[in-house]
Amino acid sequence: MSGLQKQMFAELQSQSDLSKAHEYAKDYIAEIFERNVFPTTTALEELQLFEENLPHKKGDSTQVLELLQRHGAPATVATLGGRYFGFVTGSALPITLATKSLSTVWDQAPAMQVLSPIGSKLESVVEKWLRDLFGLPESTVAGFVSGTSLANLCGLAAGRYHQLDKMGWNVNENGLNGSPKLRIVTGKQAHSTVLKAISLLGFGYKNIEWVETDEQGRILTSQIPELDASCILILQAGNVNTGSFDEFEKIGREAAEKGAWIHVDGAFGLWAQATQNLSYLTKGIQHAHSWAVDAHKTLNTPYDSGVVLCKYPEALKSALHMTGSYIIKGEERDGMFYTPEMSRRARIIELWAALKYLGKEGVNEMVETFHKRAVQFKNEISKIEGFQVLNDVVFNQVLLRCDTDELTQTTLFNVQESRECWAGGSQWEGKKAIRISICSWATTEEDISRAVASFQQALLTSKKQLS
Ligand SMILES: *Cc1c(COP(=O)(O)O)cnc(C)c1O
Repeated sequence: MSGLQKQMFAELQSQSDLSKAHEYAKDYIAEIFERNVFPTTTALEELQLFEENLPHKKGDSTQVLELLQRHGAPATVATLGGRYFGFVTGSALPITLATKSLSTVWDQAPAMQVLSPIGSKLESVVEKWLRDLFGLPESTVAGFVSGTSLANLCGLAAGRYHQLDKMGWNVNENGLNGSPKLRIVTGKQAHSTVLKAISLLGFGYKNIEWVETDEQGRILTSQIPELDASCILILQAGNVNTGSFDEFEKIGREAAEKGAWIHVDGAFGLWAQATQNLSYLTKGIQHAHSWAVDAHKTLNTPYDSGVVLCKYPEALKSALHMTGSYIIKGEERDGMFYTPEMSRRARIIELWAALKYLGKEGVNEMVETFHKRAVQFKNEISKIEGFQVLNDVVFNQVLLRCDTDELTQTTLFNVQESRECWAGGSQWEGKKAIRISICSWATTEEDISRAVASFQQALLTSKKQLS
């Protein structure tokens, strides 16, 4: 045995590092709900300590852990708690933290069934569960990826493969040089990651046929150009600013009849489909061919976790095809045929655990509660003079502004400085806005009221500063 091997066996067998890590994690949880939501200035300054040259000598595992505990933990953003409202982030369910810790030690890579029978099994099971939960066609398959950025890419790649294949063009073999032209149609409020996927897939932004949207960010149905079998139409379930949904029933049926491929970016909004009272928002999504959805946002699994769902298994698998593979296909699910990557971590374990723990009832209760808290936020902040709610709060997003851009910006800055809660800035219809996203299982009524109070205080302070 080498010296290093001896050292590492000793460390693993003593289990002191794992126990220490566990202890630190418990300390973290003990404080997270009361702690400053954003790191203090001191914590941020102390990140300098990580700026060192790559060590020459072998280290000491206890010290490695200690450094993270002492200077890493304080520089985290408390997204796990109940008063983080930035972007659309989501917390992590307690059961998923526990299962992630356990499966971290398992260190599974579910590329193939022979690499991880448990990973492969859970991927098949969750594929069925998601089909059921979202009411998608029986043929729908799932690829488990890092998030909706990649899920959008995969869904659109499947669409590209399928649409060109119908025209007798194999895009895997021939590429896009000289291919029949595909038309890309989407709303002016499409998410930036949709645009990224469009550029990565070689469609080019300039070729997008943009459709006008209404004041909530929804595609104006009457403005959709005449669609045909060369089209890929991208719709949205949950606008990042307003939380609005495109009209799937109206648009979907007709677009599908005309032969267009419909992809739905449902990063956080597709979960409306799994509720009793909000599923009217996603009515008609089954007309689409591919869907992208995150588990790390609305479902509250740990990062990172997203899913691409596709009605035509062959389109998805062909689009993500591996040539010259030395791999013999197994009898059971080999996850790598449904994702761009060969190797991935077994994020399916936490996703499975979240669904197994919550069941349909739990998913419904959690998602509907996000909506209720968002409505509470809207109601409470509307009572304060100087705040204006810009959107219809149909889901979990609240969009605000103050009387002027300057006041909006300063108020947001003061909210962030208070560290009582955290919200981010945005732009809506040419004006500065503040965006609040309710998507943590831990957000209580009190958290909302505390956040609203800190907004009120921040506005007061801002008015004084600007006068
Ligand atoms: C978050 C989000 C994305 C990107 O998803 P990631 O998981 O961050 O890759 C895409 N579309 C919408 C509507 C989103 O909210």
